[in-house]
Amino acid sequence: MLYVSTRGHADRKHFCDILLEGLAPDGGLYLPEHYPKVDARALTRLRKAYHEQGYAELAFQILSLYIDDIPAADLKALCAKTYTAEVFGTGEIVPLRHLEDGLWLEALSNGPTLAFKDMAMQLLGNLFEYELARRGEQLNILGATSGDTGSAAEYAMRGKAGVRVFMTSPHGRMSAFQQAQMFSLQDENIHNLAIEGVFDDCQDIVKAVSNDHAFKAKYKIGTVNSINWARLLAQVVYYFAGYIQATESNTQKVSFTVPSGNFGNVCAGHVARMMGLPIAKLVVATNENDVLDEFFRTGVYRVRGAADTHETSSPSMDISKASNFERFIFDLLGRNGQRTKALFGAALPTYGRFDLSAEPLFADAAKKYGFESGKSTHADRLATIKDNYERHGVTIDTHTADGVKVAREHHKDGKVPMIVLETALPIKFAETIVEALGHAPERPAKFAGIEDLPKRVQVMPADVEQVKAYIERHCAPAAQG
Ligand SMILES: *Cc1c(COP(=O)(O)O)cnc(C)c1O
Repeated sequence: MLYVSTRGHADRKHFCDILLEGLAPDGGLYLPEHYPKVDARALTRLRKAYHEQGYAELAFQILSLYIDDIPAADLKALCAKTYTAEVFGTGEIVPLRHLEDGLWLEALSNGPTLAFKDMAMQLLGNLFEYELARRGEQLNILGATSGDTGSAAEYAMRGKAGVRVFMTSPHGRMSAFQQAQMFSLQDENIHNLAIEGVFDDCQDIVKAVSNDHAFKAKYKIGTVNSINWARLLAQVVYYFAGYIQATESNTQKVSFTVPSGNFGNVCAGHVARMMGLPIAKLVVATNENDVLDEFFRTGVYRVRGAADTHETSSPSMDISKASNFERFIFDLLGRNGQRTKALFGAALPTYGRFDLSAEPLFADAAKKYGFESGKSTHADRLATIKDNYERHGVTIDTHTADGVKVAREHHKDGKVPMIVLETALPIKFAETIVEALGHAPERPAKFAGIEDLPKRVQVMPADVEQVKAYIERHCAPAAQG
């Protein structure tokens, strides 16, 4: 299997080459040359693998379709090491829970940081360690986080040989729980940099360092952001696991509703559907930051400025543009790299928008690819959390609440099971749960008292040079390492 850029670059690459890379050389995102097809026979084999051997085996079989430069025995061992009941809380790894007629929740948030990003990031940590050892290389991951991504990355990379993490976050702006999760890590290879500024300052620092090509090469700076293909691929697996749990035969269909920000999670659903998994609809649920809902309703993709990006109570979906969206548009346009490049490389940077409403292919987004969308507001979130608690005795987090609200609107016929992906546990967003229910959500036992643990964090001004100096002090240059 070879990988191509969405912007038409001539290079073709293997999985392990794009694993450690970010964007393609032309600024595009990597996608497989084609989607391997899973027919009814193959799906029956996968069903059996999940039931009899578990999630790790399912992951191994799906990943094998896309990875031909890691020996099968090694890939199998990496999957087995990643998807364990110890790390993810249950043997099913992603159990389904019934909510109400035909509506299900798929639990993706029982990993180390209680958000779905662990599903992919835990595998990425093991893949990085494996590939870096094989190459005799090191990697210094520099990132910016306002919460979920940074902690998922740190818990995935802690203690891994060959990898260091330098994670910037806005000083004093994350919830006490999120700060405690990250800052209580005592691993030598994890560095928390609390920047005196806002999230955008952190992102600007990461960009500035990445644009210093000499520094980047000397210190082997890399990222783990959501455009990494390996993360997306790892997420494809739980769409299969959700389908298998909700059905008994391959003639049945299911739909998914996915709380969405950067379009990474739901893009994995698109890939699963392209492989032939019997998915009826893929419903994109947004919060007040409705870039994606607007596109699927109107055909206009309009990125937002900082002033138009709302701070909401489902903060992990507060995005101004959807960094993975280019992958779907490339498929929608019949995999035309030149047209994708014209939209994402020219129209968007110039006008901040593009308009496909007059494009006959836009109708395919719903008809051929199953996409629908909806949005939710703070008031909807509170009402949905309260309603689920009162009627079902289930407390859901704010992002999952956006999903459930939108799912109900798209599940009127009730025939095809609708699976809502649970993207975080409520304890991460306790303030809003208290607002909705009048009491705090349950805290998993392993997080009892984490706010009181000693913290390992360096506070510094929003100054690129000071961040660079910190990195220099804490890592041997690549040449020596
Ligand atoms: C990251 C995140 C999302 C959004 O996922 P995308 O892949 O960016 O669409 C939704 N909910 C939670 C809790 C998240 O952490």
